[in-house]
Amino acid sequence: FLFGNRKATDVAHMVWKHVVQKGDTVIDATCGNGFDTLELLNLVVDDSHNGYVYALDIQKDALAKTSSLLEESINSYQKHVELFNICHSKMEEVVQRNSSVRLVAFNLGYLPGGDKEIITRSETTLQALEAAERIVIPGGLISIVVYVGHPGGREELETVETFAARMCVENWICCKLQMLNRAGAPIPIFLFRR
Ligand code: SAM
Repeated sequence: FLFGNRKATDVAHMVWKHVVQKGDTVIDATCGNGFDTLELLNLVVDDSHNGYVYALDIQKDALAKTSSLLEESINSYQKHVELFNICHSKMEEVVQRNSSVRLVAFNLGYLPGGDKEIITRSETTLQALEAAERIVIPGGLISIVVYVGHPGGREELETVETFAARMCVENWICCKLQMLNRAGAPIPIFLFRR
């Protein structure tokens, strides 16, 4: 099912479809322009299921873009998604304590079309991954798309790999997908299944 997709985010979306169910609670840890949030909403909500998406970004601009995309795509989306202008390292402060979080999705780097200086950073990415590791339920997934072309990108990739390598082998299966014939822009996708 992976080979119809050229974009890393489409590959990630295909994997989400095999894990996320209607009615689930999920987190978009870097909502940006809202494409991942919209995909997640479509996975968790239908006429008979009240799934929920928490969407986080440190930029107000990104939240505005996400909410206008959702508004034009889905009726009364507000019932099923909440947007937070916070760092993803603080996700546990906004997610309700008793929620069963099936997926935490990261799409690292900068906001396409936005300020390229505002990027995800290794230190807070690591804290956010630790939070995701604590809250994802058994059977759930942490999904991370990593870009390496911008300053700090390679360091962040190393942070993600080091984090993955020390995850508990009894509880987590940690995989990395990478397009090997795109040496300059491999855009690895990390998938950590609990
Ligand atoms: N998922 C988005 C989409 O579908 O359009 C694209 C995300 S973009 C590659 C990365 C986003 O991460 C940017 O919007 C940026 O503002 C956000 N970001 C950077 N640092 C962050 C942090 N510490 N916490 C949450 N979001 C952050």
